[in-house]
Amino acid sequence: MERGLLSAAQVDPVLTREVFGNVSKTSQLIFYLLAAAAVLCFAIGVYRRVRLWQLGAKPAGKSASCKALGRKLGDILFQRRMINRSKINLAHRLLFVGFGILFIGTVLIAIEHVLADLLGREPTDPLFHKGLYFALYEVTLDLFGLAMIVGCCVFMARRWKADSSIDRYPADWVVLWAFLLIGITGYVTEGLRIIQAQTPLPGWSFVGYGIASLFQALDMSQSAATEVHIAAWWFHAVLALAFIAAFPYTRLMHSIAGVLNLMHDAENLGEMQLVTLEELEETGRIGVSAIDHFDRSRLIQLDACVSCGRCEDACPAFEAGKPLSPRTVVQDLRTHLNVVGPGILATTKDAKDPSDGDSVDIHGDTISAETLWSCTTCGACADICPLGVTPLGMITDMRRHLVGEGQLRGAPATSLQKTQRSGNPWGLPANDRFAWAADIEVPTVKDNPEFEYLYWVGCAAAYDRRIQNVARSVVKLLRYADVSFAVLGAEEKCTGESARRMGDEFLFQELAAANIDTFKKYRVRKIVAHCPHCVNSFLQDYPQLGGNYEVIHHSQLLDLLVETGRLPVSTADKQGKVVYHDPCYLARANEVTEAPRRVIAAAHFEKDESRLTELPRNRRHTSCCGGGGGRMWFDDSPGNRSGNGRIDEILNSCAETVAVSCPFCMVMVSDGVAASTSQESVQVRDVAEILVDSIDLDSLPGSSSS
Ligand code: SF4
Ligand code: SF4
Repeated sequence: MERGLLSAAQVDPVLTREVFGNVSKTSQLIFYLLAAAAVLCFAIGVYRRVRLWQLGAKPAGKSASCKALGRKLGDILFQRRMINRSKINLAHRLLFVGFGILFIGTVLIAIEHVLADLLGREPTDPLFHKGLYFALYEVTLDLFGLAMIVGCCVFMARRWKADSSIDRYPADWVVLWAFLLIGITGYVTEGLRIIQAQTPLPGWSFVGYGIASLFQALDMSQSAATEVHIAAWWFHAVLALAFIAAFPYTRLMHSIAGVLNLMHDAENLGEMQLVTLEELEETGRIGVSAIDHFDRSRLIQLDACVSCGRCEDACPAFEAGKPLSPRTVVQDLRTHLNVVGPGILATTKDAKDPSDGDSVDIHGDTISAETLWSCTTCGACADICPLGVTPLGMITDMRRHLVGEGQLRGAPATSLQKTQRSGNPWGLPANDRFAWAADIEVPTVKDNPEFEYLYWVGCAAAYDRRIQNVARSVVKLLRYADVSFAVLGAEEKCTGESARRMGDEFLFQELAAANIDTFKKYRVRKIVAHCPHCVNSFLQDYPQLGGNYEVIHHSQLLDLLVETGRLPVSTADKQGKVVYHDPCYLARANEVTEAPRRVIAAAHFEKDESRLTELPRNRRHTSCCGGGGGRMWFDDSPGNRSGNGRIDEILNSCAETVAVSCPFCMVMVSDGVAASTSQESVQVRDVAEILVDSIDLDSLPGSSSS
C-alpha cells in the first residue's frame, strides 16, 4: 500500500515502534556524537557557573529534616511558590511539566535503544518499549508536548503584548521559539514517521496521528513521507541538542540554580545571618564590599532570578518611587558577578587577594547607598519570589559594610549612636524608661518575681507619648484578666532589632547579650510584646545568641484571654467601619494574622470577623507602613515615605478606624494620614486600645481602670 495509513486489520498488531526508524546507522552515530558534544557544552556551562558560585563563602550549614526536604521538593514539583499572576503560573506549570515529561521520555527511549543494541536485539524487537508501556508512553508524551506548546504560547503572547512587568532580553525570545519549534517539529516528525512506517490506525500518538491524517489528506505518499521524515527528524534533533548545549548560558539556568536554592535551607523570613567575632577576626571585614563576600547561596540566587518582577511589584519602596527595585538589585549584582567574577577567579588562582580582580566597585558603581537605605526590610520581595531569592538578604549584607565603614550619616546614624549610648534610639535616659507607668499600677520583676509572662514594653512605648497608651491598655487588660506578669522597668534595653537591620550587627549583639543576661537574672521563660519587631527579634535573632523563650504578640494573648472568657467583652454591636493593617513582621515574618482580627471582631462586631473590612493587600501579602529596617529613623517627610501606597489604601477604604498592632505602624500610619490631602480621615488605634474600650474595667470587684 503506497498511499495512506493501514487499518489495524492489515498489519501484525505488535504494539511498538522502531526506535530510530528510518534513520540510518551512520546518522545514528552522528546523532550520538552531536549529543555528546551538546552534553559537554552543557556541562562546561554549568561548571563555569558553579565556579563563580564557589567564589562565595560556604553558607552556614543548617541541616533540614527529611520532612522539610520533602516539602521543598513538593514545592518545586508542584510549583507551589508561584502565587498571584494565575495565568502566567499556569503557563509556567504547563511548560515545566511538559518539558520535564518530554525530557524523561527522550531519556527513556535512549536507554531502550542503547540497551537493545547492547543485547543485540532487532530494531523491531524492543526491550521494554512495547505493549501497554508503549501505549501509555505515546499518549503521555503527546499530551505533555501539547502542554509545553500551550505554556510557551502564553509566554510569547505576554511578551508580544509588552507586559510592563517583564524584562525584555532578546535571548528570551530565542528560548521561547526553541521550545515551540521543538514541540511542533516533534509532532511533525511523528506524523511523518507514522506515514513512513505505515503504523496502523487507531494509534496512541493522537497528535501525531492527527498530523499524519493531515498529510494524508494532502496526498502525501509513503516514499515522500520517508524523505521528508528524515529531514524533519534532523531538524528536530539538532534543535533539541542545541537547546541542551545552550541551556546553562541562557535564563534556563534558573531551573538548576532555582532548584539548588529552594532545596537549600536559607534563612527564614525575618531572620538574618549571624556574624561572629571569630569571622570578623578571620576575614577582617563585616558585611559585603565585594561580590565574593556574599555566601554561595546568595550567588546561586543571582542565577536563580528570572527577572519576573514579582518582587518589584511587591516592594513598597519601589511603589513609593524610591531608588530601589529588588529585581534590579539582583540583576545588577548578577551582571557584576559576570563582569568581575572571571577576573577574581583568575587572581585567586594566582594566590592573590581574591578581591583584586574586582575592578568595578559593588558599592557605588553597581548598587548605590541610596538604594540600600531605601529598603524597609519588609520581606515582601523574599516572600513573593517563586525561586526563593532574597534581595532583602543581599541588601542587609551590603548595609553591614556601609555601617562598618561609617558611611551612614544623619538622623539614622544618630539613632544608632543614641542606642549605643542610652540603650534606646530616642537617646533618652534609661531612668525615664518606666515613666510611662507613673499613673498606673504595673508590677515589675522585683514586685512579682514568680511572674508567668514578662511584658516587654519596648522603646517606643517607653518614650513615645502616643504609644505609651498602648502599653497602658495592655497592662489594664492583663491585670483585669488576672495574668501573672511583670515588666523590667528601667532594666529593659532596646532589643537591637532596628540596629541589626540597619547593618550594625555588633551593636545588636551587645544589646541582645545585655537583655539575655537580664532575662537570665529574672528567670524569664515567656515574653509577651506588643511590638512585632521585638517579637520577631526574640524569635529569630535571640536564639542565635542562646536566648530561647516562648514569645507571643499581645494580640495572641488577648485573643486567648477573650476566647477563654477572662476578658469578657461587652456584646454591644458597635457601628463604624474598621480595617486592620497587618504589620510585616507579624503577618509575613511570623504568620500571625487571625488573632488580631478576632480581637477586633470581639470588640466591635460581636465576634463576627467577616464584618471587618479588609485592605486590598492583607495578611501575609500586606504592604509595609514604611517604618521597618531602620526607616523609622530616617527624616523623610511623611509625604515621601515608602508606606504611602499603604496610606492611600487605608484612606480609600473609607474606614473610620484603622486598627494596628505595631508601634512603628502606629507612628507611620498616623503621620501619613495626617499629612494626606485626602478628604477621608481615619482614627489609628492599636488592637489593645480597641479592646480595652469594650471591657467594663470596673465590673469586677477589686479591678481598677487606673
Ligand atoms: S528576585 Fe525572584 S521575584 Fe524578583 S525578579 Fe528575581 S525571580 Fe522574580
Ligand atoms: S524587603 Fe521590602 S522594601 Fe526591601 S527590597 Fe524587599 S520588598 Fe523592597
